[in-house]
Amino acid sequence: MTKVYYDQDVTVKALEGKKIAVIGYGSQGHAHSQNLRDNGNDVVIGIRAGKSADKAKEDGFEVFSVAEATKQADVVMILIPDEQQAEVYAAEIAPNLEAGNAIAFGHGFNIHFGTITPAADIDVFMVAPKGPGHMVRRQFAKGSAVPALFAVFQNATGNARDIALAWAQGVGATRVGVLETTFKEETETDLFGEQAVLCGGTTHLVQAGFETLVEAGYQPEIAYFEVLHELKLIVDLMYEGGMEKMRHSISNTAEYGDYVSGPRVITSDVKDRMKDVLTDIQTGAFAKRFTDDYKAGFPDFHAMRAKQQGHQIEAVGAELRKMMPFVNEQQ
Ligand code: NDP
Ligand code: MG
Ligand code: MG
Repeated sequence: MTKVYYDQDVTVKALEGKKIAVIGYGSQGHAHSQNLRDNGNDVVIGIRAGKSADKAKEDGFEVFSVAEATKQADVVMILIPDEQQAEVYAAEIAPNLEAGNAIAFGHGFNIHFGTITPAADIDVFMVAPKGPGHMVRRQFAKGSAVPALFAVFQNATGNARDIALAWAQGVGATRVGVLETTFKEETETDLFGEQAVLCGGTTHLVQAGFETLVEAGYQPEIAYFEVLHELKLIVDLMYEGGMEKMRHSISNTAEYGDYVSGPRVITSDVKDRMKDVLTDIQTGAFAKRFTDDYKAGFPDFHAMRAKQQGHQIEAVGAELRKMMPFVNEQQ
């Protein structure tokens, strides 16, 4: 088992006396900044005017432009959307960094794919909580935490690793455990996971199952319950106790069908195509497509989103969820 870092492993108080700027106040930004502040750190927010800026002020933070916050800070955590980071870095962050400052990320995309190339005298690290920002904040407030990964890309001062670990402690993650990775490993595995399994794989598996039932003449509402709604119950069991707990909890009929039909659906050629997806991530082909589309105003992104929003399963689900107000209650 790989080494896991806990509170007692963070022996250097590397953020003490340092001014921190968190750039962006969205999902991850609000969680990092509030948790660090609650742990006694000096945090300001760097952001454009708008909804998030107002929210940060409401939450009691001093809010500056990205350039001004960067100028004031020793450590700058960049938590704006990945596709915007390169432009904002070049225009507002890089010109305001000094030798010995540190920049940090919640995902390795721009450093790994070379759209941001920091000066050699800057520390570069990552702390990536393994959960959405609201969970990072909620677990922290309860006295717990979401685990995180950390990585050092550039250690100009010799302190980058200590600062990264201190940051992981500041967001709470060392309460439960932190793993070390590299920018390459985090970026490639994160993209692969979300594309092949978590987001792309799951949505398309569910849609294909839904279409199969509806095309065979079954009611769309019944199909929705069978292939989408119940997915949460199954995933919750896997989350709690792996495949074994899930398979223990379902009927023998369901478990038998799992073994007989799972491999008929997810065949070895599905795995071959997963390898193709991984190759496109590793070669940078996916990153280039995403970045080029962003630069053109995201025409492909918007077209693909519109197409998916029009799928029958969405309209059917919207109606059925009105019967189930509990689905949107916080657990
Ligand atoms: P969000 O979209 O939730 O938030 C982005 C924030 O950046 C908003 O506050 C937005 O403000 C601000 N912003 C956008 N553009 C600019 C700009 N040009 N100048 C200044 N501020 C800007 O982002 P996430 O928190 O989802 O993602 C941030 C990073 O964290 C990414 O690298 C992502 O990969 C990573 N990450 C995200 C996870 C998640 O669960 N969401 C999980 C792990 C990592 P405004 O309101 O004005 O738009
Ligand atoms: Mg991701
Ligand atoms: Mg059933």
